[in-house]
Amino acid sequence: MPTFPIRAMARRPAAALLFVMAAVPSLSAQDRAADRRRFLAPTSQTTDDPRRVLIGNAPRGPDGSIVLVGGRVFDGTGAAIRDMNVVIERNKITRLVAPGTANWPAGARVIDVKGMTVMPGLIDLHTHLTDGQIATIPPPLVDNIADGMLRGMERMRFYIESGITTTRDVGSLDGIFRLRAWVSDHRLTGPRIFAAGRLITGPGGHSAEGLGSAPDQGNFRIASGADDWRKAVREQFDRGADFIKITSHFSRDEVRAGIEEAHALGLRVTCDCETFYIDWAVDAGVDMIEHPLPRSDEAIQKMVSRGVASDPTLVPYQIIFDDDGGYFGSTSRRFTFGKEANLDVLRRLKKAGVTLGVGTDLISDWYRRLPGPYITELKNLVSVGITVPEVLGIATRTNATLLDMDDKLGTLEPGKLADILVVRGMPDVNLDDLTKVELVIRDGEVVVQGGVAVMPKRSRTDAAPAKRY
Ligand SMILES: [Zn+2]
Repeated sequence: MPTFPIRAMARRPAAALLFVMAAVPSLSAQDRAADRRRFLAPTSQTTDDPRRVLIGNAPRGPDGSIVLVGGRVFDGTGAAIRDMNVVIERNKITRLVAPGTANWPAGARVIDVKGMTVMPGLIDLHTHLTDGQIATIPPPLVDNIADGMLRGMERMRFYIESGITTTRDVGSLDGIFRLRAWVSDHRLTGPRIFAAGRLITGPGGHSAEGLGSAPDQGNFRIASGADDWRKAVREQFDRGADFIKITSHFSRDEVRAGIEEAHALGLRVTCDCETFYIDWAVDAGVDMIEHPLPRSDEAIQKMVSRGVASDPTLVPYQIIFDDDGGYFGSTSRRFTFGKEANLDVLRRLKKAGVTLGVGTDLISDWYRRLPGPYITELKNLVSVGITVPEVLGIATRTNATLLDMDDKLGTLEPGKLADILVVRGMPDVNLDDLTKVELVIRDGEVVVQGGVAVMPKRSRTDAAPAKRY
């Protein structure tokens, strides 16, 4: 703590003390991204990612305005469905206006969505967009980056046509950051990408075990010892990671070092692990646990008391059990489990009050089944006693919060980024209506029309040289 505010506060009454504490951020308490944001002026414009890099104040997003007229609006805030017109200017929602009032900029593109549901774009917290471990491709193409990038483009089409406007990529081949940049620049159609880069694990750890690719390829960074875990975290940060993904195996020292380093850099950490590794990760301050893998009631209680969230991802295991008859061949999962056991973990997480998110973990070619697996995952949450509107709130608002993006994404409110889904039906009543995606807007641009992804408007060749890259 700096000495000056402490001395100043000592002479102030309690109310003023609170004011001083809020106005003078502590330099010694910045281990969460939100802490660091207190140093930004309210007028500062930043990148739309958890790193919040300061940028200039030039207008952002596509030129012009769009108005969605006549829809029933599910705004994701918990408010009741209501008929409203949604006004989008450049890449932001600027207002919601009552039906019958035409309060929007002259020349706006007016889109009639009468009778359809307008809602925040869906978020998937667990993707591997450039995953190169496809069961059916020839061995030379496994973990081939060029093939992974092309597959990433195909994957993005399936996600965006399913109304998923944001993905959190929890371990991919090295092209992922280029894919993120091209989507962000409106040069490719796809969902927003928040990327971990390579996931970090110990030798023989999950994803890096001997069944996969050579150590210099793949979606992982093998690290040994606490110092190397710190270095591995810094490497992903240096490449532009929005958060850090770790998987067991690790030692207590390693997981503690990795999480401490990530938090020092302002990045959250999510962990794919099980049994006692969950206890170790939670003890070390992890922010989220992936998957429905086995854990003790004590570990679940510890998750609740320390505010550690869960991304349960039941659906990939349902696919594994239904199609492959079980989980075989892994040397990094040292336990047996089944579909019912996974559902039981979800029930216990829900009962204990752990914050739940939605992610699908569609590895291999499973993305071609979308939107089915995403809807199945939502139904998994319904099966443990969460209502359909609440589940849609988790898929949008809660997921945005878990991404550290709730001030910019997750609801239809003035000032939020315009990531919007229009559905021919009432998904707040019947989740299967999410198969009827009509229109998707991402970052203020129509990217799906009539259910089909459209390419962004091509950029001009006479753009300023700095824009030509
Ligand atoms: Zn995964």
